Amino acid sequence: TQTQKLEPFVKDFYIEPEEIKNMSETEIDELRLGLDNVKIKGQGCPRPIVKWSQLGLTTDIMDLITKEFAFVSPTPIQAQAIPAIMAGRDVIGISKTGSGKTVSFLLPLLRQIKALRPLTSGETGPMGLILAPTRELAVQIHEETEKFLNPVSKLRSICCTGGSELKQQIKELKKGVEIVVATPGRFIDLLTLNSGKLLNTERVTFVVMDEADRLFDLGFEPQITEIMKTIRPDKQCVLFSATFPTKLKSFASRILDRPISITINSKSLINENIEQQLRIYDNDESKFEGLLDILRKQTQMSSDDERDEKIIVFLSSQQICDLIYYRLQEQNYTTYAIHAGKPYNERASSLEKFKNTKNGILLCTEVLSRGLNVPEVSLVIIYNAVKTFAQYVHTTGRTARGDKHGTAVTLLLSDELAASYILNKSLRDTEIELLDEGTIEKLKAMANKFDSGMKTGKYRLTKGFGGKGLEHMEKLNDEKH
Ligand code: ADP
Ligand code: MG
Repeated sequence: TQTQKLEPFVKDFYIEPEEIKNMSETEIDELRLGLDNVKIKGQGCPRPIVKWSQLGLTTDIMDLITKEFAFVSPTPIQAQAIPAIMAGRDVIGISKTGSGKTVSFLLPLLRQIKALRPLTSGETGPMGLILAPTRELAVQIHEETEKFLNPVSKLRSICCTGGSELKQQIKELKKGVEIVVATPGRFIDLLTLNSGKLLNTERVTFVVMDEADRLFDLGFEPQITEIMKTIRPDKQCVLFSATFPTKLKSFASRILDRPISITINSKSLINENIEQQLRIYDNDESKFEGLLDILRKQTQMSSDDERDEKIIVFLSSQQICDLIYYRLQEQNYTTYAIHAGKPYNERASSLEKFKNTKNGILLCTEVLSRGLNVPEVSLVIIYNAVKTFAQYVHTTGRTARGDKHGTAVTLLLSDELAASYILNKSLRDTEIELLDEGTIEKLKAMANKFDSGMKTGKYRLTKGFGGKGLEHMEKLNDEKH
C-alpha cells in the first residue's frame, strides 16, 4: 500500500523529566487543579510540566522564550499541551482567547520540522501546515512563527491568504518553504495550481487547525476534509479552539487519530454559590481574635431574625480542636466538637445536637467532615489553612448545599504559603477586589513565593485524600448534585 512507501519520520521527542516522573498521582492532580483545572480526555496523556526547562528545548529557543519574550512560565494550556504534542500525539486543545495557544503548537511543530530531512532542490514543501479561518488570524500566526524562526533557524514560513498577492506567494513558494500558514480556500487554490508542481502535501507531517470553532462556523469543513485526503494518514494533527461545540467534536473525531483532548476549565473550582473570603494574620493570638470577631458579627446578625445560620469551623488537628473548644467556652460560646479522638457515640450525638441547634457552631477536623451535609450551614471558617486544592474544595463545599448560598472564610497565617497559592488561584477577581490593599499585597507576595518555590522543588502541594485526591473530590461533587 501507499503507507509502506512513505518516508518515515519521528513524532515523539518528549522525554519526561525525572522530577515530573517522581511526582505522585495526588501531586499531579493538584498540579492540574493549579493549572486552571485542566481536564484530560483520552488515553496516555503525559503529565504536565511546570517550567520551560522541562521540555528539553534547544538553547536558542529557550533564550528566545525566557529572555527575548520574557515568558516567565508556561501558561496552563502550554504546560499540558506541549508535552502531549511533543510526545507525538494528536491533540485537541481548548482554552480561552489569549491563553497562549499559538506557542502550544509552534514549539512542537518546530521541533518536529527540525528533525525532518531537509527539502531537496526539487521539493517546495511545506512540512508544517497551519490552517486558520481568516486572513487576519493567518497573518498573526505567521508573525508569531517568524519570531521563532528568526534569527535562530534556516526554516522559512509563508502566509497564504486569499486577500494577499498571489504572484508574490507563488514566487516565494518556488524557493521552497517549510511552514505554510494559510486559509483553507487559498491553500486549495495553491495546491491545484500547475497540477501540484508549485505546492503539494507530500512532505506534510504536521497539521494545525487553529481557531477550529471559527473554521467550522465559516463553513471550511469540506475544504479541510479535501486537504486532509491529500496528506499522509500518519501525519500528526492538532486542533486548537476557544470553544468546542458538539458539531466540532464530530468533525475532530473524523480528522484526528486517537486524540488527547485538553480543556482548560476557566470556570472556578469553587461552587459559584460560595463567597470566598480571606484574612491574613501574623500570629496565632491575632488569628484567634479574628475568629472571635467573625463569630461575634455572625451571631449578632443571625439573632436578628428567625433564620438558622449554622457555622462550621475547620481545625487541622484534635489538639487544636480541643484547644479552640475550651477557649470559645471561656468566651461563653456553646459549640460542638467532633474529631477522631472522640468515641463514635459522642461524635454522633454532638453532630445531632449541632443539627438541632439554631445558629449552632461545629468545630471539626477535615477528615470527620467528609460527606457532611447540613443544609443550614451558611458559614465555613477555615481556621487552619488547607494544604491542597482538593481539601479546599471539600471544606468550602460544606456550605452552599443544593442551591443555597454560603460564605467560606480562610484565616491565614502569613507563613502559610501553600494555602496562599491555592487561595490566590481560587478566589475570583471580584472576591479579591473586596480585600483591603494590604491583604491583597500579602496574598500575592506569599503566592509568588510559593510558586517560585514549587519551580525549584523547594515547596510542593501534597497531602490530599490519602492518594485519591481528585477521584474522591469528584465523588463528593457528584454527591452534591
Ligand atoms: P490564544 O491563541 O490562546 O488566543 P496567543 O497565543 O495569541 O493566545 O497568546 C496571547 C498572548 O500571550 C500573546 O501576546 C503571546 O505572546 C503571549 N504569551 C504566550 N505565551 C505566554 C507565556 N507563557 N507567558 C506570557 N505571555 C505569553
Ligand atoms: Mg490563537
